[in-house]
Amino acid sequence: MDNYRKNAIYDIATAPASTILPAAPVNVDYFGEDVFNAQAMRNYLPKESCEKLLATIDEGVPLDASIASEVAHAMKKWALDRGATHFTHWFQPLTGSTAEKHDSFLELENGKSIMTFSGKNLIVGEPDASSFPSGGLRSTFEARGYTAWDPTSPAFIKRHGNGATLCIPTAFCSYTGEALDKKTPLLRSLQALSKSTRRLMTCFKAGPKKTTVTLGAEQEYFLIDKRFYLQRPDLYQAGRTIFGATPAKHQQMDDHYFGSIPTRILNFMNDVEKELWKLGIPAKTRHNEVAPAQFELAPIFEEVNLACDHNMQIMEVLRQVADRHGLVCLLHEKPFAGVNGSGKHNNWSITYGHGNLLNPGKDPHQNAVFLTTLCAIIYAVDTHADLLRMTVAGAGNDHRLGANEAPPAIVSMYLGDQLMDVIEQLEQGVPKSSKQAGAMRIGADMLPPLPRDATDRNRTSTFAFTGNKFEFRAPGSSQSCSEPNVVLNTIVAEAFDMIAEQLEKLDEKNFHAGLQKILQKIVKEHKKVIFNGNGYTDAWIAEAERRGLPNIRTSMEALKALVKEENIALFEKYGVMNRRELESRYEVNVEDYHKRVRIEGEIARDLAKNVILPKVTDAYFKALKTNEMALNQGFPGLDVYAKSLGEGSERLMAAISKMESCLEKDHEDILDAMAGLRKEVDALEKIVPDDCWPLPKYREMLFIY
Ligand code: ADP
Ligand code: MG
Repeated sequence: MDNYRKNAIYDIATAPASTILPAAPVNVDYFGEDVFNAQAMRNYLPKESCEKLLATIDEGVPLDASIASEVAHAMKKWALDRGATHFTHWFQPLTGSTAEKHDSFLELENGKSIMTFSGKNLIVGEPDASSFPSGGLRSTFEARGYTAWDPTSPAFIKRHGNGATLCIPTAFCSYTGEALDKKTPLLRSLQALSKSTRRLMTCFKAGPKKTTVTLGAEQEYFLIDKRFYLQRPDLYQAGRTIFGATPAKHQQMDDHYFGSIPTRILNFMNDVEKELWKLGIPAKTRHNEVAPAQFELAPIFEEVNLACDHNMQIMEVLRQVADRHGLVCLLHEKPFAGVNGSGKHNNWSITYGHGNLLNPGKDPHQNAVFLTTLCAIIYAVDTHADLLRMTVAGAGNDHRLGANEAPPAIVSMYLGDQLMDVIEQLEQGVPKSSKQAGAMRIGADMLPPLPRDATDRNRTSTFAFTGNKFEFRAPGSSQSCSEPNVVLNTIVAEAFDMIAEQLEKLDEKNFHAGLQKILQKIVKEHKKVIFNGNGYTDAWIAEAERRGLPNIRTSMEALKALVKEENIALFEKYGVMNRRELESRYEVNVEDYHKRVRIEGEIARDLAKNVILPKVTDAYFKALKTNEMALNQGFPGLDVYAKSLGEGSERLMAAISKMESCLEKDHEDILDAMAGLRKEVDALEKIVPDDCWPLPKYREMLFIY
């Protein structure tokens, strides 16, 4: 056992170096080859049904049910041509991961095998997935849930060693129509925001156009060698290290961030990108992150529903490809204490027709639309900070938020100096002369050019304006992108409606002056949420409190936002979630949190009690013996050393007993007991002889790969 650690290092040291292949021309014809995209539809579907399906996808025209069997037939043919034998509805239950239940295309007809796939198979599924959490929405006697095809996210093929499966993105609902998944509320929130955006844009005399919400989700992750991972029960059971002393060198030198990417990691990244490109996922950016062994992948932004599905696929591809490279991809928000955790930066914007509403634009009209959108978002974020905070709650993210490396649990907005200046000018009111400095007239004045690059970007802000989009930086690396965007869409829909309702009452003559007044009022009342300083300081925490901004520190507190009366009313008004759905989500999340904490507590106890303690007592007895022999020979003894081991094991035993009694109690006691236990274990890691320490150490996991 003791040599596993050493063997792992030896194996890594002696692994054959990767060779550099001779140059060959690049060919990315395979981009999207495993997706049933417009190209595949054209190749496999009769022209007329193809146009109908594309209209549903592109313009949201309700799906013509009569074409379902044709689409199913085409999809099957395409999938068989690409080596798939099975199909599955692919959905996102409240567990936060993706789910699938495979069926083969195989049917028997008069004893003869045929491959079939019907329109019904495509449109609905009944996976009898009664073990997924439903928070009371499904009692066992009505345990059926069904999956419903989402034609706006294209079917794709998932490959494994010797086969492939056709995956059909679906929503997952109870048979009474209540959402049991992450996708359904997102689709509903998109409808709500589309409607409100059209209403608002009509006030600006824009004709009916399509609203598209865009999302670019940057994904952070850690990679460690699988040989270490398999020796860390805390990692493979809880996804994070529950013990581990801080190594001498961790991230003090900031020498990892944007550093040259090690060859083994680049080989991994290259394979990941190839897989993603085949799946039509536009992976774009790759780099080292701040913590050692931490990296990031960012795709080009896409329509939000597709981008959320793609992010789920990205996480899966990262894990699978890592395994092929003898690595493990850790997506936990805080796998290692003392170094940065991982987040998922949610870059969000709205497009109407072809125009990004968060693009300041080139003329006073476009500027007016931009400022209206901006103020709507300021209103929304300030009014519903509790909801945004709720979307990033979770046992994992609790270790990260507010830890001086991630945005604090306080939701604030960063606009940058120039835009802040514009907002202040706007607030000051209509000047006597349009030339008057320090004031801004909507519809007449131009915005000054705003910096587009990220250089003056504030990385400490929860919600930062970054040129033509907002970047919500609090979501955790393992979380689904769905919730943050459900909330953003809903609260911005409400803000748009609030503004549109007032604009609709204005006549043309007073439009710009009236709009200015509306926006001024918003800025006055809500600019308290804007903070352009350093969000990691204690001074900000005090300042935020003075401003009356909520600082919701823990997940348990944050989750309560789901069931606040005013929030239930908001979600119900916009048809995004009803009371029962919200209550069920609250229940599921609270349970998830408690279960995770308890599991971690039990792992901590087991590791401390039957992995670490025996090693410590061994080391102690050895030291005692050595001490005695040394004294017998007339040498100075090892008293102090033996004593520190003896005392350490006593303290460890006490911390274990404390944990044992806390495991019967509340999560807060378990978290406390875990911290207490960690203190003892980590101190012992520093004194027990290195070759007897049973768990791979931080310096090994984070630096040897
Ligand atoms: P940084 O790390 O500096 O934030 P990245 O390039 O890593 O920048 O990530 C920025 C993300 O924002 C990318 O996924 C990018 O595609 C996305 N993005 C850019 N424009 C928009 C937009 N209009 N809407 C949504 N996301 C966008
Ligand atoms: Mg980035």
